[in-house]
Amino acid sequence: MTELMDSRLDRSDDRHATVLVRDARAVDPRAKLDEAVDILVRAGEIAAVGKPGTIEPPDGCEVVDATGLHAFPAFVDPHVHLRTPGREDEEDIATGTRSAAAGGYCAILAMPNTDPVVDSAPVLRSLRERARVEARIPVGFTAAITVGQRGEELTEMAELADAGAVAFTDDGLPVRSAGVMRQALQYQKLAGRPLALHEEDPSLSRDGVMHEGEVSAVLGLAGIPSVSESTMVARDAQLAAYEDGQIHVQHVSARETVEVIERAKAAGTRITAEASPHHLLLTDEDVRGLDTHRKMNPPLRSEADRLAIVEGLRSGVLDCVATDHAPHSREEKEDPFELAPMGVTGLETAFAAIHTDLVVPGLLGLDVLVERLTAGGEPFGIAVPTLTKGSPANLCLVDLAAEWEVGEAGYESRSANCAFAGRRLVGRVRMTVAAGVVAYRERSFAIASVA
Ligand SMILES: [Zn+2]
Ligand SMILES: [Zn+2]
Repeated sequence: MTELMDSRLDRSDDRHATVLVRDARAVDPRAKLDEAVDILVRAGEIAAVGKPGTIEPPDGCEVVDATGLHAFPAFVDPHVHLRTPGREDEEDIATGTRSAAAGGYCAILAMPNTDPVVDSAPVLRSLRERARVEARIPVGFTAAITVGQRGEELTEMAELADAGAVAFTDDGLPVRSAGVMRQALQYQKLAGRPLALHEEDPSLSRDGVMHEGEVSAVLGLAGIPSVSESTMVARDAQLAAYEDGQIHVQHVSARETVEVIERAKAAGTRITAEASPHHLLLTDEDVRGLDTHRKMNPPLRSEADRLAIVEGLRSGVLDCVATDHAPHSREEKEDPFELAPMGVTGLETAFAAIHTDLVVPGLLGLDVLVERLTAGGEPFGIAVPTLTKGSPANLCLVDLAAEWEVGEAGYESRSANCAFAGRRLVGRVRMTVAAGVVAYRERSFAIASVA
């Protein structure tokens, strides 16, 4: 199976399933597939795709009746906080990857802002070993750009790349110094791994706790202006162009940032970007009640910003959806708004939340949403899942009509700080196959029959 899986990704289980999915409505925009099909999963790959009723199940094959369900290529999230090592009370590799599988994901990338920070090859190697015991779906690990994420001295990028680092990021913090960023771009090129950038200018963000605008003024809370993000993205896009480096902008929150990225792409800069479900669906108006489940960095911004991000995702200026799944303990999120930590969970709700608020009302095509949810690994050289014959078996089965309340039945994640807690959503993942293994099966979706 390893030959079918990126050698930089790790997971525990490699017992390949043999499953015949019968009569699913397959939507795979890259393969130009939008029709009812049978799909046979065997030996880690999509062994056959055919019209319903045309594929005979091999002996011992599980047969799944997917009538009324959609089959999508499974999703890839390039931005997840597994809180391991250091805060396993909030999440660990097992719970984080289970949460991802429940959301329809077949691969995720973990951020290095842990305790200790993933800034040396020994820390990275020990994490990868743990993932080979605990991870439900393939996980790739990123390493820090600077030692201790202090923004001063670069990590040993070449050695970290050899040890399997998928990308470099100081996520949680920006790289303040333009000189350090320039150097990082020179070394990322040599290491052949992109930089994923958390963009804000600390001298503009200061002690802000939400978007700077009308709502922050009314609430009397310190604000983080949009230009804190967009000016740093402009700086780094220019530096990347100058050094011919490759950058990926994390969690775009501001209209101005979308414009900067659009211009940089048009000029040929090697830049990609992600949008998170909460920035696509919520605004600073949702912060009026001071619910700490609406506190994250970058913050929820204005309606104009939100609309620009939706349009950016639709047009492709923003390449993919990333959850920035950031588990926090209940006690810490119960602190007053100004003191509570920034970050929300999102792996289990990403598809359903965007489907409910953008696809159902006709604001975003289902095919576009599926494409942007599957494309998250592409900036990092991770193959985009597809339902074509001979591809690695990465798919999820989704009931687009199923309604459910977020949090009602608990979470697979160890933490409960979901931005959409209590919301009724439409669309539910029933089953996820990741690299040929059944990684998730909803309780009610039992094994149907075995041939
Ligand atoms: Zn960040
Ligand atoms: Zn993050």
